[in-house]
This record gives sequence, structure tokens and C-alpha cells, in this order.
Amino acid sequence: MSDTVEKVPTAEASSSSVEASITGENTEPTTTTEKTKWGDVEDDDEEESDAVSELKYLSIKDEEKPESILDEPEDSNIKAVTSGDTPYTSASRFEDLNLSPELMKGLYVEMKFEKPSKIQAISLPMIITPPHKHLIAQAHNGSGKTTCFVLGMLSRVDPSLRQPQALCICPTRELANQNMEVLQKMGKFTGITAEVAVPESNQGVTTARRAPVSAQVVIGTPGTLKKWMAFKKLGLNHLKILVFDEADHMLATDGFRDDSLRIMKDIERVNPNYQVLLFSATFNETVKDFVQRTVKSPNQLFVKREDLALDSVKQYKVVCPKEQDKIEVIKDQIMELGDIGQTIIFVKTKVSASKVHKALAEMGYDVTSVHGSMSQEDRDKIVKEFKDCLTQVLIATDVLARGFDQQRVNLVVNYNMPTKYETGEPDYEVYLHRVGRAGRFGRKGAVFNLLLENGNDKEVMEKIERYFGAQVKEIKSWNSEEEYKGALKEAGLLDE
Ligand code: ADP
Ligand code: MG
Repeated sequence: MSDTVEKVPTAEASSSSVEASITGENTEPTTTTEKTKWGDVEDDDEEESDAVSELKYLSIKDEEKPESILDEPEDSNIKAVTSGDTPYTSASRFEDLNLSPELMKGLYVEMKFEKPSKIQAISLPMIITPPHKHLIAQAHNGSGKTTCFVLGMLSRVDPSLRQPQALCICPTRELANQNMEVLQKMGKFTGITAEVAVPESNQGVTTARRAPVSAQVVIGTPGTLKKWMAFKKLGLNHLKILVFDEADHMLATDGFRDDSLRIMKDIERVNPNYQVLLFSATFNETVKDFVQRTVKSPNQLFVKREDLALDSVKQYKVVCPKEQDKIEVIKDQIMELGDIGQTIIFVKTKVSASKVHKALAEMGYDVTSVHGSMSQEDRDKIVKEFKDCLTQVLIATDVLARGFDQQRVNLVVNYNMPTKYETGEPDYEVYLHRVGRAGRFGRKGAVFNLLLENGNDKEVMEKIERYFGAQVKEIKSWNSEEEYKGALKEAGLLDE
């Protein structure tokens, strides 16, 4: 570790202002009792307890941005620390990466990308260049981290070897499925095979009976991957690259740390030279410290907490006298504002989800909701409908807080503020990830934080603002149509 050389952020390694998301969600378990508090908090009581804690992460700058619809997500400082003496040159074009013609075609024809985003430009040479060092990479929500590790996996797989060679581990089934879709699209012309490992009904039986995995890339959630390994269905002998998406959550004690460490050790035993990639928009000090001690001589990319906010997403708070007023705000102000794209309303528990769903449905609004206690099939169906734009408003627990990528989402409502299950302290990372569901790849967005007059909401909000050095504007009167309109105009979502 002493060979780390600090590279001053150069013109190459400079800013991009989009962010990615991760969040702890324990979504794996459906029939089993793995971890249950993630994503969905227990439903003891509607009124979440919220508490307080330290500050850390995001910042919201209110500076004027040029009025392009799509701000280049290129503007925040990513600090690079490279390990050893391998020189890396940032790739300003995909051509600089020496990718196969099949992969180039995937990028241009299928993905319709024109050039790499900042995090792609910096991280891809580190990932692809021998000796294939480990990488810990932090970059903004929506800045294109998926492409970094998907290209990393695809470019390292030997297409002639019909064995698992790349493994990507994600916290939720939704994210595993989404990453699989990206991989299949980007790798369409490569002939590389891939399989998703997420829970299905009847999993015990199907796992025992299934054939060993021959797919070259496997993307899944920890519970299912562990089962496949336990049943000797997933061979590790040829694995050369292991990716953790939402890595801070995958390595947090209240996330999937034990599973993740176990899988890393299992691979390392048979393949000491494998490469680990850890990607997230958030790495709090505790997790950062842990991964830096766990992963040997990695290249590292980090973004300062204050630089993590997305400039293109405006944040607002509104104090509501009563719980019911939050529903009124959503109904009278937010839903009535016309066609402003898709909306995600984040709630804390499945009980809150049902309550908000019911209230809005009774008023004639067409809404859907998703949480961890639903069947796999229902979850998949609701998310697919939303991705296909068949529904406009999705009520979700934190199962969707991290990673979920839907470019048309430009409004996020925090019906409940994100707090830690155990302590009631603000969950800073989850807050940042929820915000990051809007404003994908530099698009415009707005977030409304609905705070109850009584209780801890206001304190939680304050702590979040301080932690990220963020300025969250207040909507002064909770039922003033003019103020909401003004906010959305300011956010660039409504015409003047
Ligand atoms: P992150 O994981 O960093 O939050 P994603 O990988 O989900 O972000 O990417 C966010 C969005 O940006 C996706 O819809 C993706 O298709 C798009 N995107 C990624 N890279 C590029 C690029 N180079 N050019 C254009 N769009 C991109
Ligand atoms: Mg992501």
C-alpha cells in the first residue's frame, strides 16, 4: 500500500456532476430470513422515528447552469490515487480504449453513446490495462458507472471459454436485472453469454436440479449466488473479475459484508490474481476505511462529500402541519402540475406505501407501489411497467433507492425521510441515492422533502443539509401552488 502515488486531478480527472446510487436494501430474502431491515423498514409504526447524527456527504450548489436539457455530467472533482507505477491515460474517446469492434458497435449502435463520461474516461484505462489492478471507484449518481464495470467485464472475458469468468454482485434483484439488461445490450455483438442470479420461487429445488452455470458473466444478488456456490453450480476456477455495484452497501456491516467477504475469499483462494472492482456513489468514512484495508493495492477514485450533490437536481423541503397534509401536497401540488415526467415517492415502510397508494388511488390517481414484501413476480411486473413508462408515479421503499436508472424520472418525493433502522439517525447515503434517482446523466430534476411539523423530520433534514454542505430551499407555505410552481420552474421542469 505504500506504493500509492497521489495524482493531482488533472484536466482529465476533473469534474463531473452526476452521481450514482446505492443503498442498503435487503431485498434478497423473500422466503428466507436473511437480512430484513434493508430497503423496507419494519412496519411498527407509520411515523418514523428520525434522529440525528453526523454530517458527511453531499452538497448542493445553487449556481446557475447553462440551460441545456442535459448538463454534461462532467463537473465534479474525482480524485485519483493510483497504485504502483502503471501510468494511465484518461480516455477522451471510446477509441482510446482498444476495445473489440464488437464492443465498439455495442456502445455506438446499441447504447448510442457518443463519448465516455468523466468516470468512464478515468476508470476504464485502470480497469482494462494490465496488470488489472483492483479499483475502488466513487462517482456521482447517474454518471455512468455501470458502463465502467460492464465494459470491464466484457472486455476481459475470453469468448471461447464456456465458463464463468466475470461476476457482478448487486444489493437488489432490480439492480441485478437492470445491470444484466445493460450488459446484454452493450455486449450484443460479442457473443458473450450471461446469466442473472436472483431469487425465484421454489429456489431450493431449482438450484439443486439445475445444470452448472456455463454463462461467462453472472450478475446476481448475494443470497442466490451463495446458494449456487453451495450447490456447486457456480465454478470459480476461471473467474478473473469480480464487481461490486453499490459497493459501500455490499461491504457495510448493516449490508452484505459477510457474504461479500466470503465470496472474495473463495475466489481469491483459486485465483489469487483476480481483479476486484468496487463502484458506488457513496463511501462513508467507515466503509472507505474498511475497503482500503481489505482490498490490496487498489487504484482509487474518490469524490469529496461536498461535491457529490447533483447540480442539475434542485432540492426543496416543505413543512407539513399534519401527516394528511403530505398527501394533499402530493395530490394538489405535485400531481396537478401536469406532464413533468415520471415521479418516485419514497416511503419508509410497506405500511406507508399502502397508505399513500390507497389515498392517491381513492382520489383517482393511477399509481403503483413496490416494496420488499411483494412477490418476485409482482415486483418485476411493477418495475417493468414503470420502466416501460406505462405508469408515471411509483411509490417505493428503499428497495429502489440505489442504482435504479430511469432517465424519465425527474421528480423524487421523500414522503418519509430516510433514517437508520437501528438508531433513527439520518441515513445520509440513502438520502443521496434517492436524490440520484432523478437527474440521470445530467438531466434536470427536483426533490421535495415532506417534513412533519412535529417530530424529528426537521432535525433530520438539517443534519442532512449540514452533512453534505447542501442548501435545501424551503417552500414556505405548504399549500401555496405558486411556490411549487416557482420551484419547478427553477428546477427547469416547468416553462416560465
Ligand atoms: P450510475 O451507475 O453511475 O448511477 P448509470 O450507469 O446507471 O449511472 O448511468 C446513468 C445513465 O447514463 C444511464 O441511463 C446510461 O445509459 C447513461 N449513460 C452512461 N454512460 C453514458 C455515455 N457515455 N453517454 C451517454 N449516456 C450515458
Ligand atoms: Mg449505478
